[in-house]
Amino acid sequence: MMNYVHGALYRNVLFPLYEEKTRGRPTLKRLRYLERSQWFSLDELTSIQSEELQKLLEHAWNAVPFYRQRLEQAGVGPTDVRTPEDLSQIPVMTRAEAQSSVEQRTSTRPPFPTIFKTTGGSTGQPLPIGYDYESEYWRLALKLRGYGWAGNRIGDKTLYYWGEPVKPRPLHARAKMALDRALRRDIYVNCTPRSEKDLLAVIQLIRRDRPSAIACYTQAGVALARFVLDQGLRTWGTIPVICAAERLFPADRKILEDAFGPSVFETYGCRETMLVAAECEAHAGLHVSMENLIVEILVNQEGQYRPAAPGEVGEVVLTDLHNLGMPFIRYAIGDLAMAGPRDRCACGRALVRMSSIEGRTADTLRDASGEHVSGLLFTLIFSPLASTVRQYQAIQHKNGSLTVRVVPTPRFDETALEHVLKNCHKYLKGLPVHVERVTDIPPEANGKRRVVVVEK
Ligand SMILES: [Zn+2]
Repeated sequence: MMNYVHGALYRNVLFPLYEEKTRGRPTLKRLRYLERSQWFSLDELTSIQSEELQKLLEHAWNAVPFYRQRLEQAGVGPTDVRTPEDLSQIPVMTRAEAQSSVEQRTSTRPPFPTIFKTTGGSTGQPLPIGYDYESEYWRLALKLRGYGWAGNRIGDKTLYYWGEPVKPRPLHARAKMALDRALRRDIYVNCTPRSEKDLLAVIQLIRRDRPSAIACYTQAGVALARFVLDQGLRTWGTIPVICAAERLFPADRKILEDAFGPSVFETYGCRETMLVAAECEAHAGLHVSMENLIVEILVNQEGQYRPAAPGEVGEVVLTDLHNLGMPFIRYAIGDLAMAGPRDRCACGRALVRMSSIEGRTADTLRDASGEHVSGLLFTLIFSPLASTVRQYQAIQHKNGSLTVRVVPTPRFDETALEHVLKNCHKYLKGLPVHVERVTDIPPEANGKRRVVVVEK
C-alpha cells in the first residue's frame, strides 16, 4: 500500500513539480506526447521523422562543417533528403570518423551542445559526445516510455543492478544524483562484484524492499537469477526485469523468467543517443524510438550498404533527430542487430521493430598472416549454439594464439566443441586455438562482459 501511495504521489505530484516547476523541464510534456504517438500509424510516424530530418539537415548544412563537407562531396543538397529513405544518399559515418571529427561536428550556431559525456572505452578509444537540453528531454521521455512498457512507472521503487561508472563523478554531481534517486526511490546496487556473499545481499535486499521492478545489466541479472535458481531462493511472485547494456541470449531469458517471472524486457541503448529500442508487452522484438531516432540496419555488401531484410543481421546505423548541437547523422555505432518483422506488432504499435542485438563489431583480430578478422566472427560461430553455451569470450593473446572460454550448458558436447574449433581454424588461419570450459566469465570493471578481447 505504501508503495502504491508513494508511487502515485511521486508520479502525480512530486515528479511534475520537480521537473516542470523547479527545473523547468518539459520531460513530462514529451512523455505525454510519446504516449499518444506510440499509437500513430507507420505513415504518420514516418512523416514526423521526415519533418525532423529536414530540419536537422538544413541545420547541418548551415552550421555543422563536417556534414556540409560530407553532403557537398556526395553531391547532395540539404533539400535532396526529404524522407528517411533518402538518407541512403549520405555516406555512413564510422566510429573512427566520429572520433576524428568532434570539433567539425560541433554546431557553429545555436543550439550548441551543453551536456557533455564520453562513451565507454570498452574498445579502448572513448568518443566525446555532446547535445543540448532539447535532445535530453526526448531521451529522458523515451526512457520513461520504454520502461513504462515493462509496467515500470515514474515513482515506482526500482532496483538498479547496475555498473558503476569507472571514473568517480564529482561530489556535487553525486549529491544531486543521490537526492534525485532518493526522491524517485530508486535503489542502486553495483553489479560488478558477484561473489556468493554479494549475490545473497542483493536477494536479501529484494526480499526486504520488494522493488516493483529490476533494471539490470543483462549478464548481471542473469548471474543473480542463476544464483536464485541454484539455491532455491525465490520467495516472490513476478518482478518485471528490464535488461540493458548487454545482449540477452535466449537461454538467459529463460533463466530470468524462472527466477523472476515471465515479465522480462530487453532494451537497447547507447551513451550516444540513450534508448534506441525497447521491448513491449507482446515480447516480439524491440520497438525503435522512432520519434527521436532513425535506425537503419544495413548490410555491407562489397562496399555498398543495403537495408537488411527482416530476420537478417546488419550494422546498426543511427540518425539522432533532435541533437543539433553535435549531430549524429548515419552513424554506424559498431553494433549488430537483426532487422525485425515488417508487420504490425501484436501490441498494436506501428513503431518499427528490431530483434536480437548481436553486440559490438569493433574488436578486430588478426590471423597468422596478419590479416584482419572481425570479432563478429564469434557471433556467427556461437549463434547456432544458443542452447549449448551460456556465455563465451574469445581472447587473442599478444603472441596471436587464441583462447575461447565457454560456459557450457549440460548440452555442450563433442559436436559443439568441434564446431567451435573448426570455425576458428577456418576463419583465423594458422593460429593455435584453445577452448577452455569455465563456470563463469567475470565482467570488467565497468560491469560489462566483453565477448572479444584483443590483448595489446
Ligand atoms: Zn509491440
